[in-house]
Amino acid sequence: GLPTVVIAGRPNVGKSTLFNRLTGRRNALVADMPGVTRDRKEGEALMRGRTVRMIDTAGLEEAAPETLFGRMGSSSALAVEQADVVLFCVDARAGITPADKHFAVWLRRQNRKVLLVANKAEGKSGAAAAMEAFSLGLGTPIGVSAEHGEGIADLMTEIVAAL
Ligand code: GDP
Ligand code: MG
Repeated sequence: GLPTVVIAGRPNVGKSTLFNRLTGRRNALVADMPGVTRDRKEGEALMRGRTVRMIDTAGLEEAAPETLFGRMGSSSALAVEQADVVLFCVDARAGITPADKHFAVWLRRQNRKVLLVANKAEGKSGAAAAMEAFSLGLGTPIGVSAEHGEGIADLMTEIVAAL
């Protein structure tokens, strides 16, 4: 089958916006309120001549981390198990939160390739804000703005290199 890329992270960091940006879909539900995207969404994305299967997760939005990460039934955890590459998204504007740290610890144990994506990194201050995510111990943050389309070409290059 197609290589699978899973977008994961805490609520409201811009996962669905990134999914739409990468797949080119205009109809997926994005809203200001966390947790609006109830079901995981799948779509195909073409990057550097490769077609990949993208999965936008939402299950992490449903429960507190301590209950969520212990539960194998979580749809996000199941999606991560299927992933060739996980895009772990954080919000460069909000900074790193305890939920981000908790998820990073869990993710490091999953034995998956992880690309750390610092979203909402648009504009002058964006690159500096993205660097805070270094503290998660998941490598060099890739600063992007899913909403404004900044850094997306570089992200695609990194995804294809990780496949
Ligand atoms: P999700 O809960 O992680 O799926 O996040 P959403 O994609 O629903 O986005 C949550 C909010 O962040 C929405 O109001 C988006 O418009 C906003 N957002 C998403 N990407 C960006 C970005 O690159 N920059 C800024 N400033 N806001 C963004
Ligand atoms: Mg969403």
